[in-house]
Amino acid sequence: MLRKWLCQADVTVRLHPIDPILIKSGYATLDGPDMVPVSTLRDGKKTYFFPGSSLKGVLRSHFERIARTLRPGSVCLPYYDPKREDKFEIPVPEEQESYGCGFRKPSDGRKDSSATAYHESCAACRLFGSLRFAGRFSIGDAYPLPGQEPKAGQRNGVGIDRFTGGTVHGVLFDLMVVEGGVFETAIRVINFELWQLAAVNFLLHDLRDEIIALGSGRSRGLGRVKGEVERYVLSYIRPQTHVVGLTELATEQEQQHYRLHQWQPPQPISLTNGQTRGLRHEYDLTTNWMDSLRPLDASVEAFLQWHLPLGAPNR
Ligand SMILES: [Zn+2]
Repeated sequence: MLRKWLCQADVTVRLHPIDPILIKSGYATLDGPDMVPVSTLRDGKKTYFFPGSSLKGVLRSHFERIARTLRPGSVCLPYYDPKREDKFEIPVPEEQESYGCGFRKPSDGRKDSSATAYHESCAACRLFGSLRFAGRFSIGDAYPLPGQEPKAGQRNGVGIDRFTGGTVHGVLFDLMVVEGGVFETAIRVINFELWQLAAVNFLLHDLRDEIIALGSGRSRGLGRVKGEVERYVLSYIRPQTHVVGLTELATEQEQQHYRLHQWQPPQPISLTNGQTRGLRHEYDLTTNWMDSLRPLDASVEAFLQWHLPLGAPNR
């Protein structure tokens, strides 16, 4: 994407597990991307952490759900390859063309470039990436804060029967959970469009409201976490008086090649107290991002309504 750096959002999030997080179940899960905390040795002690790749998977699938709710068929099924012999039929009529953006080829004579891949990618792939394109959103591993490590334990017997339905007694001893602790991770979105910033804010709101769960067994009521924003900073290459995104900072040609979304909030959102850090101009929104950026919320649905159809299948 765009071989230059124009803007960036950095958000530090603390994750507080509310329920035990199931880390080893011994049976297949239908919960979608699995979130498996991994253990490592730190200062000679065994510590559990949540890998960034797994957190990204959970946040992506949550965003996909939001996008499908706002507009059916607006995001792809990332692993659905139309060329595969054993392909399954997509059951939802609105999603018949929703094969993975990574399996599309350039349409309308566009050349095969990262601009075209971005142009033709669905909302989820534009933000989180696909086989064709790396995506804008990244999230680091979530490590426990010093002195706030979780406890690891084994679950068995009665406590487990509640959600296994008592049919898988053989695996009860395999159930491992981590409980408690406070984890910290960093989200970064480089060259964000305004709707992408709004989409990340939706995820932050849902983390705060304990709607997003981690680990296996999420559908059985395990793994709720509360996510709290510790720091929220927007950075730009040039000083800004108002919140802008990639579209406003790109050239007209880039806007066309990447098919950037043209959208303005009803009122401009002021930026104040900028700090210069080398080449960057930073604006700290930690205390007021929730209220000040709320006018961006409508941009997500506006983008989803505008941004179809996607590229052609690579058959
Ligand atoms: Zn996609």
